Amino acid sequence: MNIQEIRSWLAETDPDRLEELWDRADRVRRETMGDRVFLRGILEISNKCSRDCHYCGLRAGNSRLARYTMTEEDILDGAILARQLGLGTVVLQAGEHPGLDARWIAGIVRRIKDEAGLVVTLSLGERNIDELELWKRAGADRYLLKFETSNPALFKHIHPGSQTTGHTRIELLKQLHLLDYEVGSGFMIGIPGQTYDDAANDLLLLKRLDVHMIGNGPFIANPDTPLGNTPRGQVPNTELMTYKIMALTRILCPGSNIPSTTALGTVNTQCGLELGLQRGGNVLMPNLTPAKYKKLYAIYPTPLRDITDAAQLVAAVKERILCIGRTIGTGPGVSRSFMQQRQHHNEVPHD
Ligand code: SAH
Repeated sequence: MNIQEIRSWLAETDPDRLEELWDRADRVRRETMGDRVFLRGILEISNKCSRDCHYCGLRAGNSRLARYTMTEEDILDGAILARQLGLGTVVLQAGEHPGLDARWIAGIVRRIKDEAGLVVTLSLGERNIDELELWKRAGADRYLLKFETSNPALFKHIHPGSQTTGHTRIELLKQLHLLDYEVGSGFMIGIPGQTYDDAANDLLLLKRLDVHMIGNGPFIANPDTPLGNTPRGQVPNTELMTYKIMALTRILCPGSNIPSTTALGTVNTQCGLELGLQRGGNVLMPNLTPAKYKKLYAIYPTPLRDITDAAQLVAAVKERILCIGRTIGTGPGVSRSFMQQRQHHNEVPHD
């Protein structure tokens, strides 16, 4: 699919044509990934952040937010709970903060591997290569770092004070590949200033970077941030646009793991997650962060009626998967694209 075709899908409004897009994405998903939906437990381990991203409620400049870092024992308990609930993976996510000591994280990764035996995904922002290497050696399997937008000028605009133009994130994604991480990335849909060309380029960049997990969620305005009241750009941050992007992502990157994101579940609390799974998605990420911390991980406003008990939450998520005729994946749920990359590397003779 070339950039013109992608652009024309992004602008498509005809319901019959869109049905074709959903069918095509769903067929590709079924043929490459099967019917299983994998569950990843998320633990939001700290909301401290030294960056000032214009879209994110965790930004350093948001003085209205009380800050926390979960204790090591809380994190371990969360991982063990994930294991008990039958999840194969735990994702540790946080703001980007040097105070989140690299050796402390490495120790936690080691303990999760030893005591819970889970696949560990880290999503701790832009950290240096030595730290990423340390965490890999400690046993981390996956790293999630969204490039947010492929447009360097827009990246710079929404990441003030960043010495970079967004290329650091893209460079880091390449480094993560070299370190043998299973690599996750993605972008925000409808961030103010994003054009259709930008969104099409975002999709093509995901393909070029050959990322293994792709989380593209709708931008949700947070009134406590500079982008809280900005008029939207050309790309609407709507539910429909999110489905289009999920479907196109599946068609362009057939072997990747694609979650129906929490942000999608927020814009349509009734059936957003299900529709995402029927339009390219194959992963859900129940949030296992203890309630006392969860409300402080305020990237964007979320409805308060979330189920707080983790066991009930996971049971409800499983029910939603079974209701649309899909099955529950068990174990790590490695992406097809990562397995193919591994096979390819193993076939290349070492000199
Ligand atoms: N500090 C880490 C983790 C960030 S939070 C990092 O920078 O990688 C995870 C994701 O939340 C971000 O990558 C971004 O894509 C998303 N996000 C932040 N603010 C958002 C908003 N207002 N609406 C939608 N998604 C948002």
